[in-house]
Amino acid sequence: MLVDEFDVAVIGGGHAGIEAALASARMGAKTVLFTLNADNIGQMSCNPAIGGIAKGIVVREIDALGGEMGKAIDNTGIQFKMLNTRKGKAVQSPRAQADKKRYREYMKKVCEGQENLYIKQDEVIDIVLGSDNEVVAVKTKLGIEYKVKAVVVTTGTFLNGLIYIGDKTFPAGRAWEPRSEGLAEFYRRHGFPLLRFKTGTPARLDSRTIDYSVLERAPGDDPPPKFSFWTEPLGSYWFEPGKEQVDCWITYTTPKTHEIISKNLHRTALYGGLIKGVGPRYCPSIEDKVVKFPDKARHTVFLEPEGLDTIEVYPNGLSTSLPEEIQWELYRSIPGLERVELIRPAYAIEYDVVPPTELYPTLETKKIRGLFHAGNFNGTTGYEEAAGQGIVAGINAALRALGREPIYLRRDESYIGVMIDDLTTKGVLEPYRLFTSRSEFRLYLRQDNAILRLAKLGHGLGLLNDEQFNLVKEIEGEIERWKEFYKREKVSVAVGEGIRSYTVATLFTADYTIEDLKEKFGYSVPEHPYVKEELEIELKYEPYIERERKLNEKLKRLEDIRIPEDMDYSKVHGLTNEAREKLSKMKPLTVGQAARIDGITPAAVTALLIYLGKLE
Ligand code: FAD
Repeated sequence: MLVDEFDVAVIGGGHAGIEAALASARMGAKTVLFTLNADNIGQMSCNPAIGGIAKGIVVREIDALGGEMGKAIDNTGIQFKMLNTRKGKAVQSPRAQADKKRYREYMKKVCEGQENLYIKQDEVIDIVLGSDNEVVAVKTKLGIEYKVKAVVVTTGTFLNGLIYIGDKTFPAGRAWEPRSEGLAEFYRRHGFPLLRFKTGTPARLDSRTIDYSVLERAPGDDPPPKFSFWTEPLGSYWFEPGKEQVDCWITYTTPKTHEIISKNLHRTALYGGLIKGVGPRYCPSIEDKVVKFPDKARHTVFLEPEGLDTIEVYPNGLSTSLPEEIQWELYRSIPGLERVELIRPAYAIEYDVVPPTELYPTLETKKIRGLFHAGNFNGTTGYEEAAGQGIVAGINAALRALGREPIYLRRDESYIGVMIDDLTTKGVLEPYRLFTSRSEFRLYLRQDNAILRLAKLGHGLGLLNDEQFNLVKEIEGEIERWKEFYKREKVSVAVGEGIRSYTVATLFTADYTIEDLKEKFGYSVPEHPYVKEELEIELKYEPYIERERKLNEKLKRLEDIRIPEDMDYSKVHGLTNEAREKLSKMKPLTVGQAARIDGITPAAVTALLIYLGKLE
């Protein structure tokens, strides 16, 4: 029974679904968000934290595009840190502990208050296609049909989810929540391959039974970094000093912990052979760590509070699929946890994933027009990766529904672009997580300049308003003016026995700071904290960024050469069979993407350029 009509339907109220739905609605598309439980919109399935290496940069990119994750964590975070401060600025990244309940409530409220966005608690079990193989409607479990022009699927760990605790197994999408099933049949019917991936989560501990006196304290930073350019103080990435924060705590596994695991390995769902799905290499279970690193005497465990109004504590680093009775033994073998009580047991979960090579970099499927995928359903792991894909899928679903041209993010402008390009061209053999090392542009793709890199795009899409964009332009202009000034001005510096003259700008490459300019040379310096910080970083990194930029330029030329969607590779002379096969399968949209496909050699790229008439 057809009851209503929307431009865009988003299936899933997780981190991908929220950003997709908000972006779509904010761009003026009438949007419906389906979720299995409306109270759990924005639920953090695993760790109570947002950000981390590379991931924190993604959150700031989402913010620069007008997304919500950064604002949500700034409003509900209880501890904030900048990671990697001993290393260069290029690999630093913010991370925050969240109050899980408040984060979820914040996201639900934002979705409820969003104009053009409608929330429905229901399971979507089918997607109806029109005669042109395009999306025309979605169908729910109760037989209701909604007419739509585009659909974003973000089912996370819910599609055919199966939970494992030792030899016990039961169907669920996440800790005792019902799973979804119907959509798998839709994908099978339309010839999409389905993979099985797995992930796991530790038990939640009762804080009252932890002996904090023997633990190492891990406090937040002061001043703490924030994620959104738009939370107070506006136009900066730092909170004011003195923000109230809570502590995390550090402990370590012991030889006894490792012995318990080794003795019971056969009872874990994975090593016992029950789980067939592929797990995340970079978020391994404690049994994985003990097996893979037998020489390591101890593994670090972070004890992270799940919120301000709860006694639940998340022991980061202790995910396991051992039976519950062994979990008790294992946790109690760790200093500070000798008398610990478990509130919720650890578990592993296996779920369905559609390979992301089925997608264009716009995140639309190659097989069905108007069908977009984002989040864990694409084989990624992590809230931030999910949200980064979600905003791109939501933007493009809205553009599709509104009859406008799609957008895609390039590798040389954002980590979101790096991730989506990796996913759609290389595919996934195991859950994909972002790292700075995945980018060849990491000196430029920093946490501090996300707003400068992406605000123009966000504003062009209508996701940042004029006032916000004008502030960014003003700041950008000020940075440029100071840069020009420092490049013109010359100073004399004692070097060895002599005196040498340098431009002021050059001093930054020799580790002088803005404060040194003022104190040692009497120069005036910017007042605005963001301008000050950014100016120093940009001038310090400029020679290196210049080198990187030249490389970018070369790649951009390839990047911008489009390949027609209906390209017939059998007509391209000089391609090997392997290259022909891979290009036909992957359908890259640009020569730049084609060049990055595993097995596509420079000779194949030359053949493509000749065929497209683009060889200079
Ligand atoms: P989810 O947050 O899972 O949201 C999916 C949404 O889809 C839900 O709202 C659900 O109700 C809805 N839904 C599903 N099917 C339907 C349907 N047919 N109709 C309507 N609604 C539907 N990440 C890490 O980075 N590190 C980890 O160690 C880690 N461990 C994890 C452990 C466990 C046990 C779980 C469950 C997840 C773990 N994650 C981990 C993954 C993390 O939770 C996800 O990366 C993130 O939540 C993905 O966001 P998402 O939006 O793709 O999906």
